[in-house]
Amino acid sequence: MPIKILPAEVVSKIAAGEVIERPASVVKEMVENSLDAGATRITVESQDSGVGMIRVTDNGSGIAPGELELLGKRYVTSKISAADDLERINTLGFRGEALASIAAVAELEILTRRDPEPAGTYAAFKKGNIIHRESRARTRGTTVTMRYLFRHFPARLKFLRASSTENGHVTTLVTQYALAFPGVKFSLVIDNHTTIQTPGTGNLRDAVAEIYGPETARQMLEIDGTDLVPAVTGLTSPASVFRSTRNYVSFFVNRRWVRSPLLGRAVEQAYVGWLTSDKHPVVIASITIPPQDIDVNVHPRKVEVRFRQEPVVFAAVEKAVKKALGIAPVNTVSAGSVTTFGTQSQTAVGVDNSAHSLPPAIPDTVPLWRIQPDSNALPVLRVVGQLANSYVLAEGPDGLYLIDQHAAHERILYERIQSQLAERKVEVQGLLEPVTVSLSPRQEELLKNNVETLKRFGFDIEPFGSRCWLVRSVPEVVRRADPTAVVSELADGLGDGDTAPSWEERIARSLACHGAIKAGDTLSHEEMRQLVRELEMARRPYTCPHGRPAIVHIDSRQLAKQFGRG
Ligand code: ADP
Ligand code: MG
Repeated sequence: MPIKILPAEVVSKIAAGEVIERPASVVKEMVENSLDAGATRITVESQDSGVGMIRVTDNGSGIAPGELELLGKRYVTSKISAADDLERINTLGFRGEALASIAAVAELEILTRRDPEPAGTYAAFKKGNIIHRESRARTRGTTVTMRYLFRHFPARLKFLRASSTENGHVTTLVTQYALAFPGVKFSLVIDNHTTIQTPGTGNLRDAVAEIYGPETARQMLEIDGTDLVPAVTGLTSPASVFRSTRNYVSFFVNRRWVRSPLLGRAVEQAYVGWLTSDKHPVVIASITIPPQDIDVNVHPRKVEVRFRQEPVVFAAVEKAVKKALGIAPVNTVSAGSVTTFGTQSQTAVGVDNSAHSLPPAIPDTVPLWRIQPDSNALPVLRVVGQLANSYVLAEGPDGLYLIDQHAAHERILYERIQSQLAERKVEVQGLLEPVTVSLSPRQEELLKNNVETLKRFGFDIEPFGSRCWLVRSVPEVVRRADPTAVVSELADGLGDGDTAPSWEERIARSLACHGAIKAGDTLSHEEMRQLVRELEMARRPYTCPHGRPAIVHIDSRQLAKQFGRG
């Protein structure tokens, strides 16, 4: 859209107020303009606590030279044109008053070049009018410079705080936009020192690494609420990472950084039982919502939005953060439904995220345990006993470990299969007597196409009459299983809609499942010790090959707290 003056009828609907309160407000307006112009590189420079100078340089679309004259005037914008456009804002700016407001309280210079102009145009403004204009070299993009903020407004100048406070506000601002737009390379230069430089890779974790440090970035859990309405995505800290202030909790609504006590409460709700009230998580939560479901025109500096349906947004944020923490909501996960619960958050600790998983429903009223490890390594564990013939109870240096014996053994066998294949040293179990397996046409078809692959895993099988196959040997990992059932189910498994990436992967998972100890098997103390020892050596001990949890950890601190000792 070209830049034009908004009609009076639209102006009357705009939430009016002082846009420029302090240097950080200038930075906010300029950075938002650069982002709206599609910039992928934004440099913010500040001198003398932002009062002396603020300059924002971008590589965005630039401004057409003929439109520069309009910019010192209020309600000049290229982003909306009619009143009902206010109902569906998808740009950060829309009121067309920022540049005019800056020009009213400071000196303003713009150097811009728009494609396909052969050169850039420079314009200096005083009191809203261009006082000097010339052609200057510039690559595509815009540089807006503000000088001498509030020079002629001593009362407002007095209102500003110490330079460290003003620089702090500017830094926070750039920080937040860098988190909202990880695909944009942000630099912040304060009094000639570069204080922030984000990589602009598009990966939020990389931006977090620059802003909150690599250690925090590594530990953050993925918020994957893309299936929710509204969608909620981002990163949130595990209970082991916290801060003493709420300043590390950021919300972006359609990529606009907003303050929201409502969303703050939703996050706090998700951490109940994980963090005491004096500890706050590190959260970067992006909410994507249809523009007509929010009102962004409620605050002069656009730092708040109004949701048309607050409870829905609240619930989505709480649910998405809980999911990232590994707390499954009650009643929503039922056997038979496939859900991607936990797969994203598990990415954060490097466990298998290739599979869909079916987690146990964990009541969120008792957030006592964690299935989400802080790291992949399992400490040395001491076996305490077996529970319900299904779980091994073990003690670690940091509390109780409940190990699902089937899932854990599956994990161990799966890793053993993978390493044997990689080393081409597959252990084979020859059968004393070959067995025959009868197959359906479909099974036989699938098996025929995969004989060679199956041989690599240790199967010696061959056709033996009409839809009957002879099995002479099986992989060692399934030596305890019924070979007929293994081959038959393998043939079925080869055809069904498993999500695993390759047939090899499916075979490995199927073999691990068949070979593993079952739930309900009574284990001797020695067998449990053996299982735990092997699990300690697994690369990804916390999940089975399908991505379901193999271990639930009850932290000793949480235990102490539950008993009123903490
Ligand atoms: P608004 O952002 O609400 O439209 P502003 O006063 O911030 O109002 O900016 C007025 C207009 O100037 C914008 O609509 C846009 O067309 C243009 N503009 C300002 N800054 C830039 C920039 N960095 N790159 C491209 N265009 C810009
Ligand atoms: Mg703007």
